[in-house]
Amino acid sequence: MSEIRTITVVGAGQMGSGIAQVAAVAGFDVALVDVAPGQLERAVAVIQGSLTKLVDRGAVERDVADAAQTRIRTKAKPVPADLLIEAATEDAELKLRIFQELEAVAEEHSILASNTSSIPITRLAAATSRPERVVGMHFFNPVPLMKLVEVIRGLETSDGTAEAVSAAAERMGKTVAEARDYPGFISNRILVPMINEAAYALMEGVGDRDAIDTVMKLGMNHPMGPLQLADLIGLDTCLAIMEVLHQGLGDSKYRPCPLLRSYVDAGRLGRKSGRGFYDYSG
Ligand code: NAD
Repeated sequence: MSEIRTITVVGAGQMGSGIAQVAAVAGFDVALVDVAPGQLERAVAVIQGSLTKLVDRGAVERDVADAAQTRIRTKAKPVPADLLIEAATEDAELKLRIFQELEAVAEEHSILASNTSSIPITRLAAATSRPERVVGMHFFNPVPLMKLVEVIRGLETSDGTAEAVSAAAERMGKTVAEARDYPGFISNRILVPMINEAAYALMEGVGDRDAIDTVMKLGMNHPMGPLQLADLIGLDTCLAIMEVLHQGLGDSKYRPCPLLRSYVDAGRLGRKSGRGFYDYSG
C-alpha cells in the first residue's frame, strides 16, 4: 500500500467534521460528504470555530489552520480517495449501504474504514469484495482534542491495511490502540455499560442527575460525569451501542435502560439536539 494522501469522510456530524479537521491539519486533502440539508455548511462553520479556538490557544499555527481549511472540500456524494472513512449515523443497515456505495467509488488500492462505535467491522467488510482493505478506525469525541484512535481489524483485515491507517492516525497526532472485533471493541465495551448504569441509577431514583455526575467526577476522578458524557456522545449513539452489546454478547446485563430509550424517542439526544439529561438551549 502506498502512502495515504487523500481522505474522503462520509458523514459530517460531530465525528466526521472533527476527523476532517484533524486530517486537513495533518496535511491530507479531504473531501467531506453528507446527505442532510445544511449539514455540510454547519460542519464547515464548526471546523472554522474549532480551528480559531486552537489558534487562540496556541495549539495550532494560524497558517496551518488557514491551509487546513482550504484542503477541505464539501461533497454531496463520496469521491475516490486513498482512504475513505465512514462516520455516518450509528445504524448497521445504513452503514452496510454506505460501504457498498464507497466500494463503488473506491480505487483498487483504497482502504475503507469505519468510525463505528460498535458495529462489527467483519460485517461491514463482508458487504464489500475487499474485506482485507476494510478496517475500524475509531476516533474519540471531540476529535481535535482526544488523543486516541482505536484500530480494529476485522477477520480478513490485512496487516498492510491496519499499518496504513495506524500511520495515518499517527500523522494526525493520535496514539493508536488495537482492539479485536468484539462488540463495542475495548472502549465502548467498558464505557457505555457504565453510562447505561448511570441512566438506571437516575431512573430508579438512586440519585438525581447532579448527584450521579458529582459522585463519578469527585469520587472516581472522571473529568465528566457519565450523564454529561452521554449528552456529549449523543443518547441515540449510546442506545445504539447498548443494542449492539446486548444482541452481540447475548447477556441481559447489557439491556438498554428504558429511560435512555424514552429520551431518544422524545428527541432528547444530548448536546447535538439541545437537550438530553441536561438542557443546552441557553
Ligand atoms: P451525528 O449524528 O453527529 O452525525 C452523523 C452524520 O451522518 C449526520 O450529519 C447525518 O446527516 C450523516 N449521514 C447519515 N446518512 C448518511 C449518508 N448516507 N451519507 C452521508 N452522511 C450521512 O453522529 P456522530 O456522533 O458524528 O457519530 C457518527 C459515527 O461516529 C457513529 O458511527 C458513531 O457511533 C461514531 N462515534 C461517535 C462518537 C461520539 O462520541 N459521538 C465517538 C466515536 C464514534
